[in-house]
Amino acid sequence: MQVAGRRFLTRTAVAATALTALLNLQSAGSVRRPTAQALTFSDQARRYLALQYRSYPTEFLGCMIGEIRAGVAVVLRIAPADVDPSRSTPTRVSPEQSCEAAGWSSTIGMIHSHPGGERCWYYFPGTVVATSDAQSFAAQSYAVDAIMCGDHIVWMGGDRTERRLSLLAADGPAASAASSR
Ligand SMILES: [Zn+2]
Repeated sequence: MQVAGRRFLTRTAVAATALTALLNLQSAGSVRRPTAQALTFSDQARRYLALQYRSYPTEFLGCMIGEIRAGVAVVLRIAPADVDPSRSTPTRVSPEQSCEAAGWSSTIGMIHSHPGGERCWYYFPGTVVATSDAQSFAAQSYAVDAIMCGDHIVWMGGDRTERRLSLLAADGPAASAASSR
């Protein structure tokens, strides 16, 4: 992340800015980031996510630590982002500082939860209108971004394609497929 500021990270659902965000997404080619067509999590990372998801009624935020290997984002573990409790609600979460500033190097992206598994999308269904989560990702320089939705994860890489990863399926890139949404 080039600029560690809440201004760039706050996840707010402001529909009025959606069109502007879409334009920003389409012109964001200037943001260079590794390309990942698949996303995998280590068993340790999966367990952590499952536990965090079960533990909190509000959104949690984690730093995905790993690397990009031949187009596959490999998440080895999840580190907790620096979040003030007052900034975690059932519908939004924002960090006090970047993952790097919080001490987590090798962060390839951030993951946050949607309690109840609702609104797990980067584009409003049936449209190409970016959600606040897509806007947040566009403002970052990370390779991937992900939303934990209970039994599955919705994520996005540098190609801006929304993909879905089932946590019930077998490990590996084969479990990650482009969302049908
Ligand atoms: Zn979200």
